[in-house]
Amino acid sequence: MCRLRLLYHGGQRRAEALTQPRASEGNIPALICDLCRQFYDLGWVSGTGGGISIRGPEGIYIAPSGVQKERLAPADMFLLAADQLENPVILQRPQDPKLRLSECRPLFFNAYRQRNAGAVMHSHSVWAVLATRLFAPTGGPGAFVCRDLEMQKGLRGKGCFDTVTVPIIANTPREAQLTESMAQAMSAHPDVDAVLVAGHGVYVWGETWQQAKTQAECYDYLFRAVVEAHRLGLPMSAHTGTEARRNVS
Ligand SMILES: [Zn+2]
Repeated sequence: MCRLRLLYHGGQRRAEALTQPRASEGNIPALICDLCRQFYDLGWVSGTGGGISIRGPEGIYIAPSGVQKERLAPADMFLLAADQLENPVILQRPQDPKLRLSECRPLFFNAYRQRNAGAVMHSHSVWAVLATRLFAPTGGPGAFVCRDLEMQKGLRGKGCFDTVTVPIIANTPREAQLTESMAQAMSAHPDVDAVLVAGHGVYVWGETWQQAKTQAECYDYLFRAVVEAHRLGLPMSAHTGTEARRNVS
């Protein structure tokens, strides 16, 4: 593995090959911290919202609840048994006893149980929220639909001319109360690896953390593209040429 790093020497910028892997690679708690900082910069986990979980050889790592996600440390992670999805078992708690297990835990476990996921990401992206407003203006349930967008190729089994349909479930006062409706939406839409929550955000998963991250980025791009197309009054589909508003159900 070789990456390039930009260095500044005497005002001159030069690229240097990095032959050492990132510190977080192979260290899942450190990787979760890295990803949370990236997702914070994208606006996905601001205001302590959102969350992330990755399955490793030792079990399932989950970031704690209600904390500044961009300031997490590896010692803040919970580790749960990967073979105890029905009755969760905490194998290791954070060093700080005040940290609480994420409210997203049962929702993450939906993806581990039903899809054998390797990682699950929960974003409070404003584009996901606006996409639910557009396609489920009364609060859901409903479905986000897009087609004819190149970034669809980043989704499992999708091509750029396919139709992508992402289920939208209604929000609830507590995150854990979404568990059953998310599980039902996943069963009804086996071809997609995401569930939108009306006025709230989106859950995205993948076989690996890399696939989960790629799909989370591609879904967010698609949500933004469709919301912006609607705002500009542009057709949502290149094939149909139908006005954006008329495609919204
Ligand atoms: Zn949330």
